[in-house]
Amino acid sequence: MIQSRREQFDALFPSEPAFRWNQIEDAFFTSAKGWDDVTTISKSMREALTVIPWMSVEPQTIQVSLKGDTHKALLKVADEKEIETVLMKNRRGAWTICVSSQVGCAMRCGFCATGKMGLTRSLIADEIIDQYRFWQSYLTTQPPNHPTPSRISNIVFMGMGEPLANYEEVKKTLNLILKYTDIGRTRITVSTVGVLPRLEQILTDRDWPHIRLAVSLHSAIEETRKKIVPTSYDEFLPKLEDWAKRYLQTFGNRRHHLTFEYVMLKGVNDTPEHARALAKFVNHIGNVRVNLIPYNLTDCEFEKSSDSTIQEFLEILHAKHLIATTRRTMGEDIAAACGQLIVVANKPSID
Ligand code: SF4
Repeated sequence: MIQSRREQFDALFPSEPAFRWNQIEDAFFTSAKGWDDVTTISKSMREALTVIPWMSVEPQTIQVSLKGDTHKALLKVADEKEIETVLMKNRRGAWTICVSSQVGCAMRCGFCATGKMGLTRSLIADEIIDQYRFWQSYLTTQPPNHPTPSRISNIVFMGMGEPLANYEEVKKTLNLILKYTDIGRTRITVSTVGVLPRLEQILTDRDWPHIRLAVSLHSAIEETRKKIVPTSYDEFLPKLEDWAKRYLQTFGNRRHHLTFEYVMLKGVNDTPEHARALAKFVNHIGNVRVNLIPYNLTDCEFEKSSDSTIQEFLEILHAKHLIATTRRTMGEDIAAACGQLIVVANKPSID
């Protein structure tokens, strides 16, 4: 069991008032580089705290795409496990980071490299937050005249793992990011394959911050979805529809919609029949946007849909009045695109 920094602090200083930890936590999100820089606490406490790692992730390798707009890091966490995290330049002139929530994943989506690893363990909140802290600190090391924006404006939980299978630690992470950074709720997206009990929990959990949710749908035809996401619940689609309607009734507004993600797989879910089924499904629900994802090749049975097929699919959705877009593929040359994150035991996927 990995101990959080807070647990280690409480063990070291059992009678400190609660605000002391808040002072320390606040420092994690400043330019402080280590315990020595936390001048809001006493020198003796700073010295005692050096037994707790300032960062819970340690970079092993960093790869940069040819265009320079995507950076991928392989990070070592406690117990020598490894995860990947990605930094991508966004259209807002800042950066989006894609964070991992687990080491591996149990969901086995057929197109996803992480799914082939199986699940090793879930990350604790420190390890998810530190992916943000790592990139923030990385950006400050870029040369001063480099035309690189230094600000992270968006976070997507689309790296390794199923975030809702690690609900409590992801919730803790979200609340801390919202508390200590200027990244707002509409700039954070948690992507889920559709863990129904946790989606249900979100409806009534007062501590769940209403960031954006994206559900990886991949097909509005039950048998096709099961083929792509073998761990999909029985009768997933009517259950999702029922949940989505209740979610949107409670939280939906002009700025708060749901997103359905749809990876385009040649001959599997990309035909006009699939497009019409998707349009019908979405139109029953309402305030949902569709994001088509060009498939990024990994070592698996599926193939990429052609650009013309994706365009035709998109036109059918538009003709049925859906708000649908195609995601820009970034970092394919360094295996940092959607579905490509993987760490093979003793053989990292990046050099
Ligand atoms: S796509 Fe997401 S949920 Fe599916 S196996 Fe990959 S990491 Fe897990």
